[in-house]
Amino acid sequence: RRVGFAIVGLGHLAVQQILPGFGSSRKAKPVALVSGRADKARVIASQYGIKPEAVYDYESFDRIAQNPDVKVVYIVLPNAMHKEFVIRAAKAGKHVLCEKPMATSSSDCREMIDACDKAGVKLMIAYRCQYEPHHRYLMDSVRKKDFGEMRLVRAVNGQDVGAIDQWRLRKALSGGGSLPDVGIYCLNAARYITGEEPVEVFAQISTPPNDPRFKEVEESVSFQLRFPSGVLAELSCSYGVHRAQTLEVHTAEAHYLMEHAFPYKGQRLQISHKIGKSDADVVPNIEQQDQFALEMDHFATCVMENRVPRTPGEEGLQDQMLVEAIYQSARTGQAVKLKPVSGTDVTR
Ligand code: NAD
Repeated sequence: RRVGFAIVGLGHLAVQQILPGFGSSRKAKPVALVSGRADKARVIASQYGIKPEAVYDYESFDRIAQNPDVKVVYIVLPNAMHKEFVIRAAKAGKHVLCEKPMATSSSDCREMIDACDKAGVKLMIAYRCQYEPHHRYLMDSVRKKDFGEMRLVRAVNGQDVGAIDQWRLRKALSGGGSLPDVGIYCLNAARYITGEEPVEVFAQISTPPNDPRFKEVEESVSFQLRFPSGVLAELSCSYGVHRAQTLEVHTAEAHYLMEHAFPYKGQRLQISHKIGKSDADVVPNIEQQDQFALEMDHFATCVMENRVPRTPGEEGLQDQMLVEAIYQSARTGQAVKLKPVSGTDVTR
């Protein structure tokens, strides 16, 4: 028995990663598509064995309420459109999986959470790395203190954003530049690795003044987080670098280095740790798995067993509040202190 998913938006991520990901899924299947392009949607529907009558456009989307095959709606649209479609999916009585970043403001995130609560449906944010085995291994090992107390987290996620003509460079659709798009992976990782919420952030932004791509959104961000335990995280992201995707954790007795930490595949984890008076390098044997299949299977299980997902709407809201604090710090040149938050790591 598999849970039926409707995919909303047939862009790069949906077509190249999510739909193929159903092939590795054990609990989810695609049963409906929502797209502005009927011709494209029809072709993809036939490839995946989706009934022609289960193809909707953005206007007729609400009719999905009458399709009992659809249990989950997966929103894969530009960031600023997530709110509208999450709320419409909730009103149609469907559980919702929403791509990261959850939305473009914390008030929108709150409205999305409230709408899902009111409709009695589940909301999960698609933080795929939290379902990926290398990230889970790292998180578990560090939290168990396999090699002593954690001190520092370092992460960088960046790429060349490409051509000027895309929604990612329009603030009204994206909400920001590299920070909400790729920096959010570093931010989220620092939170799930520590299992803590930061109490202080400091950030700097750098954007080349003459690159026409960055008239509305930032290119590069460097930000530091202080956690209640004293752990410091030094994180950065950019739209103007060759692929940079590293995650590191330094503990009293080890250095964890994950290369290719944030892409869809190819994660490599090495642990250099103290052993007596010398050092050992270990590469744990961790299976590569399709991250989209893992996250969709997790949500399908939550729907079948009526459980709260590991990355619920509150997880997206917390990241969005931190994104806003990071922008505030960069704008003012001051560190921003945050109210201590407790208990958010219980779901992880
Ligand atoms: P994309 O541009 O390839 O696709 C966006 C889709 O939205 C297209 O089908 C487009 O036609 C449709 N759309 C509808 N209205 C639009 C409008 N007004 N302007 C532009 N497009 C419109 O984008 P993508 O890379 O597939 O990203 C979609 C979402 O997925 C974003 O929220 C992004 O942050 C997220 N994403 C997540 C990951 C991940 O690894 N989890 C990776 C890439 C993208």
